[in-house]
Amino acid sequence: METIRTQLLVIGSGPGGYVCAIRAAQLGISTVIVESEKVGGTCLNIGCIPSKALIHAADEFHKLVSMCKSDENESALGISAASPSLDLIKTIHWKDSIVSRLNNGVNGLLKKANVQIFQGVARFRDGKTVIVSKDSEETQIHCENIVIATGSEPVDIPTLPFGDRILSSTTALSLTEIPNSMAVVGGGYIGLELGASFAKFGSKVTIVEFSPKILPQYDEQLTRPVHEQLKKLGVRVMTETKALSYSQPEKALRIDSANCEDTSIIAEKVLVTVGRRARLQGWGLEELSLTTEHGYIAIDQHCQTSMRGVYAIGDVTGEPMLAHRAMAQGELVARVISGQSASWDKQCIPAVCFTDPEIVSAGLSPAEAEALGEVYSVSSFPFKANGRAMSLQREDGFVRVITQKETNIILGIQAVGAGVSELSAAFSIAIEMGARAEDIAATIHAHPTLSEGLQEACMGAIGHGLHL
Ligand SMILES: Cc1cc2nc3c(=O)[nH]c(=O)nc-3n(C[C@H](O)[C@H](O)[C@H](O)COP(=O)(O)OP(=O)(O)OC[C@H]3O[C@@H](n4cnc5c(N)ncnc54)[C@H](O)[C@@H]3O)c2cc1C
Repeated sequence: METIRTQLLVIGSGPGGYVCAIRAAQLGISTVIVESEKVGGTCLNIGCIPSKALIHAADEFHKLVSMCKSDENESALGISAASPSLDLIKTIHWKDSIVSRLNNGVNGLLKKANVQIFQGVARFRDGKTVIVSKDSEETQIHCENIVIATGSEPVDIPTLPFGDRILSSTTALSLTEIPNSMAVVGGGYIGLELGASFAKFGSKVTIVEFSPKILPQYDEQLTRPVHEQLKKLGVRVMTETKALSYSQPEKALRIDSANCEDTSIIAEKVLVTVGRRARLQGWGLEELSLTTEHGYIAIDQHCQTSMRGVYAIGDVTGEPMLAHRAMAQGELVARVISGQSASWDKQCIPAVCFTDPEIVSAGLSPAEAEALGEVYSVSSFPFKANGRAMSLQREDGFVRVITQKETNIILGIQAVGAGVSELSAAFSIAIEMGARAEDIAATIHAHPTLSEGLQEACMGAIGHGLHL
């Protein structure tokens, strides 16, 4: 068996792994990355990117469909359209072409940085040695440091196993026909993003959520506009409802609901999005003495595991399972291994729900501020009073700023509204730089933009609201 020696071996080329490998190589560390599937991981191939492409296509199609209906708001623009149609195979082809461009891009970046890419499944032999298998060939890689970036996988429901009419987010992203009806089991962000997209493409969608509310991590103020939009789209939301099993002949999902007497929902397809779990199997965890906590690899502020020289980053280390957290951890580990004094010191990890409307959250929510015993104020500015929102025909939503009462330091910012994902950088920068409401209020915000909502919410926080 061939043996390779390297300073750093990264297992998994998702956003955590590939960023870590590129930065490490840039810092002069000899680096090998192993990937069993395509480079880019969940995010690029079956997650963030393809889902946002599908959401965009659904939005565009839905806009046209709305313009065919004279009673819709859109007709106020004076635009009308006749019988738009959808060729989903072309849509999926377009989505795949974006994924493929990004695959090539990441491959190119790794090569440019002189990272050696190995295609195959990595399996630990011990804390410094990994065997990579591809077909019947094996290569042994001996290294000084290892980064585990094996990501996560969708959780299934034993009575609704993935396959045939039961879809995971991965298979839902590659359908070639729009189902007449779809039940989405799980009202988290992935289920709602995809569910609303299929509703816009024309499916009759029902969301089945076990807990009392959808998007349980967000408060009711933030989720209300999403509820209203789902209602407009004809999506039925069934909370406190358990999905039991699926009957193929009847194409029916059996349910047990605390809120209604229905015992089944007609659904040509059932999309199960009830969460993701760390990928802890298949790479030889049992050969190591790693500490795990609640099903994730435990790490310290340097992303170091319980074994010296073994680091873990991204989804395999737990929540929040977000690509940008994985990337930031990847970069941090590269710096630590190169000898820099670096540790996890981020003030916030913004989270975006690409629902309709979108939700952004950075830093503390009012409930989190309360739980931490902060003395805080809340100031909101509605998009109803924002000229740009009006001109986009999307006045639903608001920006909300949570400040420390005594100092006006910004503890958290949330927003809900069409296109607010693009405000997330402004929110994170304010929190990361320790801004006070006065700082943002005194910063000139271009007009007319949705970001003026942030400035106005900050003006409100110091008692100087202007446009409300
Ligand atoms: C539908 C969907 C939408 C999403 N949307 C967003 C979003 O909008 N924004 C956001 O921030 N996050 C989003 N996410 C989450 C995001 O995709 C993940 O947080 C991110 O991909 C995690 O990165 P990672 O590097 O930890 O792991 P992954 O991206 O999961 O990559 C892990 C890689 O490791 C490889 N691997 C595993 N085991 C081995 C082995 N033994 N040998 C070799 N290779 C191995 C896998 O093949 C995979 O390529 C979404 C996820 C899904 C499913």
